[in-house]
Parts: sequence; C-alpha cells; structure tokens
Amino acid sequence: MNFHILTLFPEALQPYFAVGVLGDAAEKGIVKIFCHSLRDFSSDKHHRVDDRPYGGGPGMVLQAPVIVNAVRALRQEHEIEEVILLSPRGTLFNQKMARDVAKKRSILLVCGRYEGVDERAISLCIDRQISIGDYVLSGGELPAAVVVETVARLLPGVIGHEEATVEESHEEG
Ligand code: SAM
Repeated sequence: MNFHILTLFPEALQPYFAVGVLGDAAEKGIVKIFCHSLRDFSSDKHHRVDDRPYGGGPGMVLQAPVIVNAVRALRQEHEIEEVILLSPRGTLFNQKMARDVAKKRSILLVCGRYEGVDERAISLCIDRQISIGDYVLSGGELPAAVVVETVARLLPGVIGHEEATVEESHEEG
C-alpha cells in the first residue's frame, strides 16, 4: 500500500517511518511512504503557504490554492484512491476505520497547521476528515503517523504472525 503525506514538515516525519515495524514493512516492499513538502506547491516566491481565512476568523490557515494545487498535482502523478485531511473536526479514528482504509491501494494524508485548512480547499479536494482524538494538536503530522502505523499493521506480512492483529485490543470493539 502507498501512503502519501502532504506536510509542511516532511523532515520531521521521515525518520519515524524508517524504523521499527514501518521501516521493516518498507524494506519488504509492503508499504511505500512518501512525504511531500507543501511548500513545493506554493507559487509565491517566498514559498508562503498561509493566509487569513477567506470567510474571516482568527489566525492564519493553509491557503486553498496551495492545497488544491498540491492535491491535483499529486493525484496526476500518483495513483491516489482517497484524500484524507487530518482534523480535530473529523470522524473519530478507530480500528474499524483503519481496516476500511487498509483495503485501499493508495491514500493521501493532508496535514493541517496553524488554524487549519481553508474551507474552500476542503470542499474542493478532500474526500474525508479524520480526527485521532478529542483534543487539539498543533499539526496533522502526528495524526498522519498514527493513521499510517495503525493501517500498515493490518497489511499482510507487516506483523510476523498475522493472528497477532486479529486478536489485538479493539478488534472486537
Ligand atoms: N482551529 C482548528 C480547530 O479548532 O479545529 C485547530 C487547528 S490545529 C491547531 C492544526 C492542525 O492540526 C489541524 O488542521 C489538523 O490537521 C491537526 N490536528 C490537530 N488536532 C488534531 C486531531 N485531534 N486529529 C487530527 N488532526 C488534528
């Protein structure tokens, strides 16, 4: 399965994916994890990615055109079945949802920052929003890593004995 992650901080995520179960899964070719820098898709000469919210409100959000350009470009370049935004307003992630995501061949996880992502980008290019818990983090990077690790563990061959995942906590609710 291919995981694409769109983030302001690819360098923070990459080392985590290189070790342990995920590192082994990547070496075996069961997963491929690509971290894409959001700044690469900014048309601003200073690679700026934030702006005031279009509809008003406090703080800054990730600009709609940058997110939309990035998602379109990545969908053109790679086979991506679903685009998921990590958001505290999303549906609460659980083991059942992880099993559903694990059926896909390739997903793109979009990590928010600041006050989140401009609503116009969400309506234009996000298929679903996932929250990892009822609390607020500063960015979608840790939630993206949680989703990647939970889903990857369910893929055949990632955990030594496949029965191990069947009998794990939360498998039966
Ligand atoms: N202003 C937003 C709100 O009130 O919902 C919070 C934005 S938060 C500071 C910045 C980013 O962190 C979000 O866009 C999201 O990508 C990520 N994030 C924070 N908490 C999260 C959670 N519980 N689950 C998933 N993503 C989260």
